Amino acid sequence: MTIFEKIIAREIPADIVLEKENLIAFRDVNPQAPVHVLIVPKRALPRLLDAKTSDRELLGDLLLAAAEVAKKFELKNGFRVVVNSGPDAGESVPHLHVHVLGQRQMSWPPG
Ligand code: AMP
Repeated sequence: MTIFEKIIAREIPADIVLEKENLIAFRDVNPQAPVHVLIVPKRALPRLLDAKTSDRELLGDLLLAAAEVAKKFELKNGFRVVVNSGPDAGESVPHLHVHVLGQRQMSWPPG
């Protein structure tokens, strides 16, 4: 069971900012920007590479939730959406999640 499944099951606390039938969004415990929210599907899917055509609706809902979080936190000047998949990307929790980062200037390319 990953740490995100424990948050979904309310076994460990998190600062939840949005919840829907199929996903939950909470603040990252180690924020990399003033706003850093993780959007996590309730059904455990390890990473994007494991997504199937049947996950299309869920994947769309994750991005729509990212936009909803951006609106909620009034990230009018922009924000970044990140999905880390696999070791080269620095994935540390094997449960698909979308990072939403905002309220600071981002640089490109990312590290
Ligand atoms: P990634 O590196 O893309 O797998 O992202 C995993 C993220 O989960 C990291 O940014 C961590 O800071 C975050 N994280 C790990 N444990 C927790 C937790 N208990 N509550 C909130 N965020 C967490």
